[in-house]
Amino acid sequence: MSTDSERPNGDRPSARALAGARQPRTFEPPADADGRVRISTIYGCRTFGLRKMREKLPLADYEKLQRILEDGATLDQELAAAIAHAAKEWAIENGATHFTHWFQPLTGLTAEKHDAFLTLAADGTPIERFDLSQLIQSEPDASSFPSGGMRATFEARGYTAWDISSPMFLMESPTGTTLCIPSAYLSYTGHALDEKTGLLRSMATLGREVRALYATLGREGYGRVTATVGPEQEYFLIDRAFGPLRPDLLMAGRSVLGAPPPKGQQLDDHYFGSISPRVAAFMNEFEYELYELGVPVKTRHNEVAPGQYEMAPIFEEAQVAADHNQLAMEVMRQVARRHEFDVFFHEKPFAGINGNGKHINWSLAARRPDGSWENVFEPGDTPSKNIRFLLMTAATQRAILRHAGALRASISGAGNDHRLGANEAPPAIISVFLGRTLKGIFDRLASGAHQVGDAEGELISLGVAHLPDVKRDNTDRNRTSPFAFTGNKWEFRACGGSQAISFPVTVLNAAVAEAVRDMHASIREMTDAGSSVDDAVVSVLQQMSVETGPVRFEGNNYSDDWVAEAESRGLPHLRKTPDALAHLLAPQNHRFLIDTGVFSEDEVAARVHVRAERYVMDVGIEYNSLLRMLDTVVVPAVSRYHGELARSIAAAVSAGLDAPQLRRAEAVGTALGALLDQRDAMVAVFEAIADVDDGMETARRVAYELVPAMEAARVVADSLEVLSDDAGWPLPTYSEMLFVR
Ligand code: ADP
Ligand code: MG
Repeated sequence: MSTDSERPNGDRPSARALAGARQPRTFEPPADADGRVRISTIYGCRTFGLRKMREKLPLADYEKLQRILEDGATLDQELAAAIAHAAKEWAIENGATHFTHWFQPLTGLTAEKHDAFLTLAADGTPIERFDLSQLIQSEPDASSFPSGGMRATFEARGYTAWDISSPMFLMESPTGTTLCIPSAYLSYTGHALDEKTGLLRSMATLGREVRALYATLGREGYGRVTATVGPEQEYFLIDRAFGPLRPDLLMAGRSVLGAPPPKGQQLDDHYFGSISPRVAAFMNEFEYELYELGVPVKTRHNEVAPGQYEMAPIFEEAQVAADHNQLAMEVMRQVARRHEFDVFFHEKPFAGINGNGKHINWSLAARRPDGSWENVFEPGDTPSKNIRFLLMTAATQRAILRHAGALRASISGAGNDHRLGANEAPPAIISVFLGRTLKGIFDRLASGAHQVGDAEGELISLGVAHLPDVKRDNTDRNRTSPFAFTGNKWEFRACGGSQAISFPVTVLNAAVAEAVRDMHASIREMTDAGSSVDDAVVSVLQQMSVETGPVRFEGNNYSDDWVAEAESRGLPHLRKTPDALAHLLAPQNHRFLIDTGVFSEDEVAARVHVRAERYVMDVGIEYNSLLRMLDTVVVPAVSRYHGELARSIAAAVSAGLDAPQLRRAEAVGTALGALLDQRDAMVAVFEAIADVDDGMETARRVAYELVPAMEAARVVADSLEVLSDDAGWPLPTYSEMLFVR
């Protein structure tokens, strides 16, 4: 269906005509024998997960694997060999010819290097083979991946190792099928060169700390504790006809030029509106592919901005959710092309309307003695459940209070800087929203001693049995808060639409692990000194309620008052990516990552430097796109129009007529002059920065000098777009890209 001959002839009117005339692509998922389509039939059919392993492995092996997953032990050679064999058989049965270790380097993308299932026997006979050493690790020699200096390029060796907690899957393409093995990526010396390793370490640490606290609280017999995540993914769909005419979208995933359309999102007429048939067809098809890949897509709807949509999966264990989010974005990109769409996950593809966020819903699950899972943040109806709930909620607040800056750094990036603090997404100040009921409880706990006599005050004398009952309260929501409690989980709303969630979840896990550990130590200190557990809990809870007061904020996070107020409360306000990265680089701000065993000093520094470099490169690509478009598209188009006006004025004057277009010609001429000035100023800024040889300083100057200079040039260019002849304007406009489909 998608052929290049359907592409426009490189001009805007034919692109518009093509986009406007498209019909929904028909997509009919295969049905069961009775003619009905059942998600449950196809769900996970392209994954080699636990269900498949139970089918394919001897029972003893399968049970061993389950125990390993439960206790986090390492895979032994024998079991790995059995799994490698079964996975190969299954993959080949399903048409796979190649396998790849699929991993997440620090680029924020995924990487794969394919190998054929081919081995030659000594006599040259070809055999399809995949043995355990290939399953457990491979050596991609990927010296071009950023390592932030952790691995000199001459020491190029990097190893990928299977993450057994995330199922292998089959990726199909028109040219063949590949078995993908979700993997961690480490250097020869054991440094984490990827986003996954830190996440897995943080999961283990956090699980251990919570489990230890549970034991002290007398919650006996609990098994594994793990973090759960459900990322809500926002995206834009733009007809593919427009892409080739917009070098900025093509190169940077974001428009660096474009006047606002006459109608934006002010009517709220898109949000939760009915989904157009063409878009619905796209959603059906990508969801279907994701079901096959075992990604539990659940929700779809129109988002706030025109052309914007959202999809949300059912939550999973964090490392699986992180893999699945990457996979979902990849599948959506591929399926979009079949529907003649380009999909944009960028944090700000279009100025003036909302950009793409990725809300990270996060909670913890603990395995009960009976094998079922308990949501650690589910408020309870009995005092003992409330202790667990209130302590963990207090610990989470303390984690955010202490590491708000590190969390801000974990979601930093050139794209997200356009969202954070820009009156749309949450601000760059990270605070916690609890909702009226819960905030009231913590505020009263904080002032407990002064309130003896009322219900909450009594808890001091009466102990834990009288901790307040906490009922789940879903009634009040605050969409402006970056970190909100939403009934039985938390929602970290500051993550950007295109970002990998692994790093922010890693930082969050580590911050909470540290808070739980410290809280637990305080409780133990008191019990060692003779207090009862109940008394110690009440006392620690009170003290933490006082300490975390400054991070609780229920008001409007977008207001200027809050910026001032947050400052007086001592919350960091890290406006731009380089500020956030410099903050994280300071040892006192990242010591918790080292203390919790999540990263080494080198690994933290590497992450900061890779992100700073990436920031400079991203803005550099936008700068080059903008410069090229100004020089080769905007200035020539405006000059042509200006010349036409001049000729028609000359003709009128020589015919002895009035020439009212003189006013227009003057306005265009003035703006064109201003544009050329801004363009030169922008180039001068860029060239001055190019001489700086300190990476962090370069990033800082890019943020505070280059980005504003580009913005200034853009404003003039956009004013010329609406002053010029539309028929001679070569770039698809915001109105066309956002509304024609
Ligand atoms: P809300 O109404 O708060 O937006 P939803 O039930 O629609 O909540 O869920 C939004 C997202 O949060 C979904 O991706 C969902 O899977 C996820 N979510 C729900 N419960 C949890 C949990 N315990 N841990 C992590 N994510 C969760
Ligand atoms: Mg949402």
